Amino acid sequence: MNRLFDESIPPCPRCQQTTALPIVYGDASTEMVTAARLGQIVLGGVATEGYMPAWMCPCGTRY
Ligand SMILES: [Zn+2]
Repeated sequence: MNRLFDESIPPCPRCQQTTALPIVYGDASTEMVTAARLGQIVLGGVATEGYMPAWMCPCGTRY
């Protein structure tokens, strides 16, 4: 399986944890859907203009 994200997760601005999941935008491949089901990534849906957070913290913060 390809690496979908690098290993350095920036700390959450709210709780300072570094256990966030990467948010992946665009059409989800089968591999991406599987990773999301396993709790490895968050599917962000279709990419939009404007602010697109890259990380989803377990506390609910997207940043
Ligand atoms: Zn957090």
